[in-house]
Amino acid sequence: MSTIESRMEFDNATYKTLLESTRAIPWRIDWETMQFTYIGPQIEALLGWEPDSWVSAQDWAERIHVEDRDWAVNFCIAQSKAGVDHEADYRALKKNGDYVWIRDVVHVVRRDDGTVDSLVGFMFDISERKRTEEQLAALRRELEELSFKDGLTGVANRRRFDVVMETEWTNACRNKQPLSVLLLDIDFFKQYNDRYGHLDGDQCLKRVAKLITLAADRPRDFVARFGGEEFVAVLPDTHESEAYRIASRCRDLIAGEHIPHEGSAIGKYVTASIGLSTMIPECSDEAQTFIKLTDRRLYEAKQRGRNTIVNE
Ligand code: GH3
Ligand code: MG
Ligand code: MG
Repeated sequence: MSTIESRMEFDNATYKTLLESTRAIPWRIDWETMQFTYIGPQIEALLGWEPDSWVSAQDWAERIHVEDRDWAVNFCIAQSKAGVDHEADYRALKKNGDYVWIRDVVHVVRRDDGTVDSLVGFMFDISERKRTEEQLAALRRELEELSFKDGLTGVANRRRFDVVMETEWTNACRNKQPLSVLLLDIDFFKQYNDRYGHLDGDQCLKRVAKLITLAADRPRDFVARFGGEEFVAVLPDTHESEAYRIASRCRDLIAGEHIPHEGSAIGKYVTASIGLSTMIPECSDEAQTFIKLTDRRLYEAKQRGRNTIVNE
């Protein structure tokens, strides 16, 4: 044996040791026969399937999660045919029925004439990374939800209201549908806080918010905290009479809750005043003007003695 040959032998053995001691799992598939000609023994520790059980590309395909299989197989075949190195993430089936997230990194080996000879690659266990990604995505969703929610009452916040109002306004003027908005303000709430304390004031706000969502409970109805002790309900595709019915329900539910309010000048319980507007907007009209009009009506409701609805 020449020195070069013995060195090659040594190198091959070293390569094999190296390949089989990494956490990534090496493999080779012959392109003509679509048979595995090699797979690292580490595969058994990761997935439970013995190396001998990886015979053809079919075995590989069958051990991919059914939701990932079609795209993963089609993608890998298309890339390989085009002679393009590629990588694919998919869930691989373990022998015990569980799944592991795998990143398969594939190199297409071509002959001198350009035809595909074989595929070689590494499978990486990326379940830890996927778990972190999923946790991050869940956190992001939670944050997004929180950023649109009023922390105290759980209804939407003012920011969300601004977005929804613009959307519903545009919808209403495009579809020539009536849009109703009601603004609600708790009566003598300053006195409520003075008498019962801020914490009980907070509890009262939570109860009132809940009652408004009960009154405006159709799928597209939207309730938000407008500010302090004021709430707003956006009622899409709602005529004046229906909106008035919902506003009355709001007022009645709040008054009927019998939340004691000794500081109120108009009764023994918590009440609310409501400004209500309905219009089929023209696209030249502004939502802001509509809200201001509703706010004037709310003010008028206060002037008329509170615990009342003003819609003109
Ligand atoms: P009116 O009947 O004219 O509406 O009288 P009012 O006392 O309700 O009106 P005003 O706007 O003077 O007072 C609103 C009060 O709402 C003042 C403020 O302390 C209270 N408030 C605003 N935000 C909160 C909150 O988050 N928690 C509590 N507990 N009170 C709040
Ligand atoms: Mg107020
Ligand atoms: Mg008030």
